[in-house]
Amino acid sequence: MNVFSHPDFDGHERVLFGHDPKSGLKAIIAIHNTNLGPALGGCRMWPYASEGEALKDVLRLSRGMTYKSALANLPLGGGKAVILGDPRQQKTPELLRAMGRFIESANGHYITAEDSGTSVPDLKIMTEETSYVAGVMEKPCADGHLRSGDPSPSTAYGVYRGLMSAVEFRMGRTDLSGLKVAIQGVGNVGFRLAKHLHEAGAELWVTDIYDDMVQRCVNELGAKAVSSDEIYSLDVDVFAPCAMGGILNDETVSQLKAKVVAGAANNQLESPVHGNLLRDRGILYAPDYAINSGGIIDVCYERMGNFDPKAVNDHIESIHSTLMEIFTRAESEKQPTHVIADQVARERFSKPAENLQSA
Ligand code: NAD
Repeated sequence: MNVFSHPDFDGHERVLFGHDPKSGLKAIIAIHNTNLGPALGGCRMWPYASEGEALKDVLRLSRGMTYKSALANLPLGGGKAVILGDPRQQKTPELLRAMGRFIESANGHYITAEDSGTSVPDLKIMTEETSYVAGVMEKPCADGHLRSGDPSPSTAYGVYRGLMSAVEFRMGRTDLSGLKVAIQGVGNVGFRLAKHLHEAGAELWVTDIYDDMVQRCVNELGAKAVSSDEIYSLDVDVFAPCAMGGILNDETVSQLKAKVVAGAANNQLESPVHGNLLRDRGILYAPDYAINSGGIIDVCYERMGNFDPKAVNDHIESIHSTLMEIFTRAESEKQPTHVIADQVARERFSKPAENLQSA
């Protein structure tokens, strides 16, 4: 297994491998770039088919966090951690504490958060061994109520606002009433996105691998249930991928009838070629890490110790102007939106920032 010559290595500053025989922990921490601040990114636990697959995943996700935080103008670098194992069978308090010690050994260059296979209670166990954990604090809402550290509500709101920007740019409309939206995956983010859209008068089609998740949308939001294959070819205005990565590929892009792709999932493009393909087909793609940064904005304010719901909300609203800048530049330079997003992010993280409050 190559590391330095790995196709996804992309100049990572550090890649750390952690092993704790007692708890069975096998984990990787990848720190892509810390020019703008400490690397913050979630800790994923997944039963990877091989160590190579785990390395590939952590490198790609870690790089994505650098771009995401830079584009969102946050004082953070990019990093990610993966634990190799089945969260339903192998996740124990001992293993999580060992992970906490592993994170601590990176001396604050990496700060962890929740991701697939880990939850806020898991992170709280890690805090017994390290303080470099985000997304665990109860947070005040705008109405004064407290909510858990889970950043999903902020991610969903950001995706909703970003989806509106893309619809405005591509379809010239700001009113979502009657807008047809297909959502793939109605979990933590997808369901909340569906609620925002429903409240704005949109018509919804949803799919998920779990029936109860679909039924919740049908019963509460009047959504129409469709199969996982049907979701791509529906005659809708917007396709919102909110499940897993790699779903914009040779097989799916040609099926899309939507004018806009705007959703929460990370690494939606199977390869950059598929971003070009979307542009060729006249489909406006809201780059994933630009539209789904609401969660990282949320945990960044938590880390900085000044969680003011209004300031967080205002920052999330800036996803609108960032996307509009990307769409406008992409149109005038005749480039796909993912290429422009990468350029803007690189301009921001390639030199250390000045005047940013540290996270
Ligand atoms: P989640 O696990 O709560 O929800 C994902 C949903 O997708 C689940 O209900 C799952 O059953 C469903 N799903 C999985 N495979 C599917 C398939 N093939 N077809 C249809 N449905 C499928 O996760 P989440 O927190 O809602 O995150 C959704 C996506 O957004 C992920 O890609 C995640 O990495 C990304 N994301 C999440 C956040 C956040 O704050 N939670 C932030 C940024 C990005």
